[in-house]
Formats: sequence, structure tokens, C-alpha cells
Amino acid sequence: MLDRDDSAVQAQWARVRGRLREEFGEAAFRTWLKPLTLKELNSGVVRLAVPTRFMRDWVASNYLDRLRVLWSGENGSVRAIEIAIESALARAASAEPAAVEPPDGGPASVDAAEAVEAAEPGDELPADRGDFAGRLDPRFTFENFVVGKPNELAHAAARRVAEASAVPFNPLFLYGGVGLGKTHLMHAIAWHVRRREPQKRVIYLSAEKFMFQFVKAVRYKDTMAFKEQFRSVDLLMIDDVQFLCGKDSTQEEFFYTFNALVDQNRQIVISADKSPSDLEGLEERMRSRLGWGLVADIHPTTYELRLGILQTKAEQLGISVPIKVIEFLAHKITSNVRELEGALNRISAHASLVGRPVTIDTAQEVLHDLLRANDRRITIEEIQKRVAEHFSIRMADMHSARRARAVARPRQVAMYLCKQLTPRSLPEIGRKFGGRDHTTVMHAVRKIEELRASDPNLSEDIELLRRMLET
Ligand code: ADP
Ligand code: MG
Repeated sequence: MLDRDDSAVQAQWARVRGRLREEFGEAAFRTWLKPLTLKELNSGVVRLAVPTRFMRDWVASNYLDRLRVLWSGENGSVRAIEIAIESALARAASAEPAAVEPPDGGPASVDAAEAVEAAEPGDELPADRGDFAGRLDPRFTFENFVVGKPNELAHAAARRVAEASAVPFNPLFLYGGVGLGKTHLMHAIAWHVRRREPQKRVIYLSAEKFMFQFVKAVRYKDTMAFKEQFRSVDLLMIDDVQFLCGKDSTQEEFFYTFNALVDQNRQIVISADKSPSDLEGLEERMRSRLGWGLVADIHPTTYELRLGILQTKAEQLGISVPIKVIEFLAHKITSNVRELEGALNRISAHASLVGRPVTIDTAQEVLHDLLRANDRRITIEEIQKRVAEHFSIRMADMHSARRARAVARPRQVAMYLCKQLTPRSLPEIGRKFGGRDHTTVMHAVRKIEELRASDPNLSEDIELLRRMLET
């Protein structure tokens, strides 16, 4: 223990804390660093105490180095830092009041059924009631979700979960890249269930909030209440679980909650940016358990889906956008749905400001930065490589004179895609295919167009290749 009069060391500790607060910010400081207490400084070792194992691990893996550096800056004799867990009892003796201010962006509650009934599109839900859940976006409903090939499985599965009276598969695991509609589908499930079965308890929250809540519970020795929150849940949805990768203690708690709910036959819906097997930093048992139910991926958007989404959203915004402009946007903005929406919003704002109808020229002008960012140049080599891989032929066959169908057809597909996806001219393309003539390329393009119309397999192959190349 520190001597009461060891005020020099206490002053050093106060300065270290001040620096930590400056460096890591108020929120992190309050959550992780403020609870540290200084026990002693003995033979060059600073001993700090924290209330829980979780906090000890967290502080050790995230702040230890910095603590050591700051301490030795204050006191040259300090060589090492040790962090111990101080039992709750010992702490209660020196009780620190457990007044918690909810931090910014902290969990907010979703109000129950009456809010849903009252909510007009665009209405905000009543704010925080101190309950334990994330906020639902009133726009994210099934009605507003445009279904297409890339998301039809995920959509059907989400609908099934929302409508089923018995748990159809557990968990439903939705995964896909950013901005493709995972959160939208989860909120849609929540809205649907709340409207139809208001007595059911639904919790939606991001994995990050889950962790935050858990950590807070641990810190204020309230893990019982934390667990209690989940005990009576009928439907638990955790968004973006990739956030838990590498966060072992939270993962463990999540796993515990997960298993308890599955055992009670409660529905769980999970989202992530990768499939369970591709999530690195996830415990093996967790990874395999997540894949037990239905795993549904959302693919990158296709041109057709983008058209559909743009039309729907333009209608919702009440702006008239000529089909040519919609096509232009669907063609140019391929990244994700969020950017498509952003583009439309900007066009709409611009049109209402200048009071002129939307044209391709104005769209181009208003969106030049967005268009540039989406303007990824696809190269002929890239196309050749992908196509060769896809049809299991050698890259050299793209340039070779071999005319066997097994290599000639893929080569034609590659030429066709080069014409579609790059601004290169026919002679330029021909040169990159072993110095072929531009008429050969033209012939290939025609041939593939013809075949696409009659051969759905080939057509699908080409779509797939295009999608892979465009994303
Ligand atoms: P994710 O969670 O996968 O990153 P979001 O669910 O947040 O993506 O979707 C991003 C935006 O795109 C949201 O505004 C959402 O409403 C919209 N969106 C995504 N997919 C669709 C779709 N199929 N139909 C209509 N809107 C969509
Ligand atoms: Mg999301």
C-alpha cells in the first residue's frame, strides 16, 4: 500500500492520469482508465488495480505500453506496471458512487409497439427510455426494401424470421459488404414483429453497443442485470459482429448469451461483413456455432437492382428523374446502395434549388466527386486473368493462336468484356490478345452477344465475371 504521505507518487499518478485523459479522450478515459487505482510503487514496479478481469485484460492489451512510458517519464525509477484485479468486496469498502452518465452515442431504447403505430415515414421515434437496445430507423422496413438477385435469399430469410410463428433457423446469419442492406433488413424484421406481435420482446443492437453495455455492467458490478436483459428476449439481433473479433471477453459473454437463448428456442439474427468461416479473431466454437442456422449472403448490387432501387427512391423523394439519368447513375455508381441514395439526394437537392429538371449533364456536374471515386479503371489484363481463372485455361491462351473451342470461347468472352467494361478501341483490344485484328474482336463481341441470348449458362457466367470485375 502507498503511504498516505507518499504524496510525490500520488502527484505523479495524477499527472499520468491527466496525460491519459488528454491522449485517449474523455470517453475512453472514463470507461477504462479512471477506474484504475494506484496501490503501490515498489522496487520500480507500479501496481494498479481494476475491478474486473475484463478490464484488466483490456487495459493491459490497450494501454499498458502507454502507461509504462508515461510513468517512467514522471518517475525514472519505474520499470514495470502490474495490473491486478481488486475484488468487488475490497472495493465496496472504499465505495465509489456508481453514478453513470450515459456516454454520447450510447445505447438508446426503441420504444414499443405504440411508437410504431404512430410513426409516419420520417417520424422520429421517442428517444431513450433507458432500456437496452439500439434505435430503429423508421425508413428501414420491408416495404422500402427493393429485392433483386443479389439480396433475394437474405430478404426471404429475413421475412421468414419476421413472419414465422416458430423459429425457422437459428441463428439467421446475414453477411455482405458495407452499405448493402444488412442493417435495413434487421430493422425491417424488428418493425414487422413489433407491429404484428407487440407482446414479443425484440432487442436490436450493434455488437459495439453490446460490448459497451457489457463492459459497463462489469464495471458497475451489474452483470446480473445485464444477463437479465436478455433472459426474456424473444428475438435478439446483433449487428456487425465482426466488431467482436479479437475481443475475447465480450465474445465469451456473447457466446454465453447466444447459447442460453438458442437453448430456450429464441430467435437470433446476426450480421457481419464476412461469413462465419472468414471472420478472423473469432473463437472456433463461436465460429462454428454461428454457422449452424441459415447463412445468407448479400452480394454486391447488379445493374438491374441499382435501377430498381433508384426508381423506388426517386419516387419516395417525389422527384422526377428521367430514365436516362437513372440508367446513367446505375451504370456509374456501383459501390453500394448508400452511395446511390446519396447521389439521388444530391441531385434532388440541386434540382429543387436551381428549379431545373435533372439531366445527365447536371447529374455529372453535381456528382463529379462521387463519379470519380466509382470510376475504377478495369484493365484488359485483369479481365483476361479473371476469365482465364473462371474457365480454367492458362493466361497464355488469351494470346495464343490455339483455336480449340475450349480456349477460343473464353477468349471471346474476355474480348467481349473488354469492349463492355473498358474504353479501349477494338484495335487496342486486338493487340492485347496476341496481336489479333480488330475484325476478330468485332466478331467475338457479336458472337458472344448472340450466344448470351440463347445460352443462359453463358449469360450467367458473364454476369458473374462482370460483377467480380466491377467490385
Ligand atoms: P449495411 O448495414 O449492409 O452496411 P444498410 O442496411 O445500412 O447497409 O444500407 C445502406 C443504405 O442503403 C440504407 O439507407 C438502406 O436503406 C439502403 N438499402 C440497402 N439495400 C437496399 C435495398 N435493397 N432496397 C432499398 N434500400 C436499400
Ligand atoms: Mg449496417
